[in-house]
Amino acid sequence: MSDIIHLLPDAIANQIAAGEVVQRPASALKELLENAVDAKASHIQVIVKDAGKTLIQVIDNGKGMSMTDARMSFERHATSKIRNTEDLFSIRTFGFRGEALASIGAVAQVEMKTRQSGAELGTIIVMEGSEVKKQEPASCPEGTSISVKNLFFNVPARRNFLKSNPVEMRHMVEEFQRVALSYPEIGFTFIQNDLELFRLLPGKLSHRILGIFGKSYQGQLVACLEETPHLNVRGYIGKPESAKKTRGEQYFFVNNRYIKNNYLNHAVSNAYEGLMSGDMQPFYVLFLEIDPSHIDINVHPTKTEIKFDDERTVYAVVRSAVKQSLGAHNVVPALDFSFDVNFTENWKSNREQTEAVHTENTLQPDNQGMENKYKTFQSPAYQKQSVSGWEKLFEGGGNTIEVSRGKEIRNMGEEEILTISSKANEDVLHFPEGNATGATFQVENNYIVAQMSTGLLIIDQQSAHERILYERYRKQLQHAAGASQQCLFPPHIQLSQADFALVMDIKEELYSLGFVIVEFGKDTILIQGVPADIQVNNEKALFEGLLEQFKHFKSELSLDKRENLARSLARRSAIKRGSKLDMSEMEIIVGQLFACQNPNYGLSGNKTFVKIDLQQIHGFFTR
Ligand code: ADP
Ligand code: MG
Repeated sequence: MSDIIHLLPDAIANQIAAGEVVQRPASALKELLENAVDAKASHIQVIVKDAGKTLIQVIDNGKGMSMTDARMSFERHATSKIRNTEDLFSIRTFGFRGEALASIGAVAQVEMKTRQSGAELGTIIVMEGSEVKKQEPASCPEGTSISVKNLFFNVPARRNFLKSNPVEMRHMVEEFQRVALSYPEIGFTFIQNDLELFRLLPGKLSHRILGIFGKSYQGQLVACLEETPHLNVRGYIGKPESAKKTRGEQYFFVNNRYIKNNYLNHAVSNAYEGLMSGDMQPFYVLFLEIDPSHIDINVHPTKTEIKFDDERTVYAVVRSAVKQSLGAHNVVPALDFSFDVNFTENWKSNREQTEAVHTENTLQPDNQGMENKYKTFQSPAYQKQSVSGWEKLFEGGGNTIEVSRGKEIRNMGEEEILTISSKANEDVLHFPEGNATGATFQVENNYIVAQMSTGLLIIDQQSAHERILYERYRKQLQHAAGASQQCLFPPHIQLSQADFALVMDIKEELYSLGFVIVEFGKDTILIQGVPADIQVNNEKALFEGLLEQFKHFKSELSLDKRENLARSLARRSAIKRGSKLDMSEMEIIVGQLFACQNPNYGLSGNKTFVKIDLQQIHGFFTR
């Protein structure tokens, strides 16, 4: 028998390889864009016809190629970007496989014009199905222009598989946006069927984001910056209220390469915990910089997946970076208030007053009769903490972190478009000595209106109180710090088997909050204690309500146990809309709210308050 194994001709081998690299017009565009970036272009132009099916042209003003290199570039595994295996572990360029041009040249008609800077003449090469149709010197501009015509002209099956023009176009725009986002210092234009889709001037990242996603993002972005020895994170995240139901505008770049990574996406979402409801998707464009030897970008042929050798650390750093910048951003309006001095005095005397009320209350729990005396206002430990928080706010001492962060962020040089905390912080350091009255009152038993020297504050009492309690419970869960009050007549509750299992599963967390629960026969529990700071008339109803809420959140949002418990208990025990509050209660809410880490948002991402500036008020009346 004769031998039957033989090597495939290059043209066929290239076509097979092309199947991996070029699946659709968008993948060809991606490769061409990346080559232009690798060639150090400062301006890149994209021209597309029929969603790339007829033409994809990328014109750059990069370093160009010599005549030999121009020819070589269409050979498989021909690359100028790595030389040996060591280089594979320190990749800083987009390309390195040397496959793209060979693949594209195998499945399309390609015309390349290229000239190196300083060279008198350039080169023109025409390829068709891996065959060189033409190669000669030509006069052309510096840089490289590659036109890919009639993609898959020789692979009809592939061509028939292409989707409709709008779908293919969407893929192209996505690829374009990823590259344009990661290189704001490069100017880009994108023209489709003679229509200019994008004209992006070189500039800062924030400008680039607005250029791509629209001016409506102005004011919605918060800078994010974190530097650690292993990993730097920088970029922008969206304010919680700009989050959307659909996933989409979420971008991670590792060493400027776009990647998909669900684990890191989770790290970001997790940092928004408690700021928006769990089914919302925040906007983010985050750049991670990490020593290339700690990542492996070669796990996927189209290179959008990478492996980190220490994924957990990366997760933690990303999460904390996002959390911190959300926190820093949240400080802005709170500090901006410049409460006047009288207000503090009020606050302090109120505290004494409430402490008195508190003792009174414990002696005669029913003396107020109504539900409006919420014990949750009166947890002494919490008050002390919030008061000192207030004082810090006034002295500016508590804000050193935010101030320095503000500066760091400012070093990014983006201050003019974005709301960043630094300015507000400075305001507070020398807040105006007003002598306003600080009157506080309630509207419709729903809203607290507080007067400040710089305007009016309207607070949604329920959302604000939920936020306050949520943060308190989160802390208690962290430190197992919730105090308990013993039930005089411990109620027992018969549960379904499933609920019983659930309660046993969260027993420890419940204990951290102050619930003391013991098993009491089959599927039955005895409630011996409840959190000390909740005014309860009916422990059984409180617990059952909590359990209901917990189950509801559990099915609606995928929260972890503690997060869910803190939310559920806050929801159940916060004052409700429609409850009448007295002066001291209102001021406690105001005070505690602004001692919160994230005072701006309620548990569903809604606002807890709005501020109307004096200037706005003046504006109402000027003609
Ligand atoms: P890779 O980018 O993986 O090296 P490609 O097939 O995409 O492989 O490109 C092959 C080579 O052609 C590159 O290494 C580079 O030297 C050269 N090249 C491709 N596109 C350009 C361009 N726009 N400007 C200058 N050189 C280019
Ligand atoms: Mg390449």
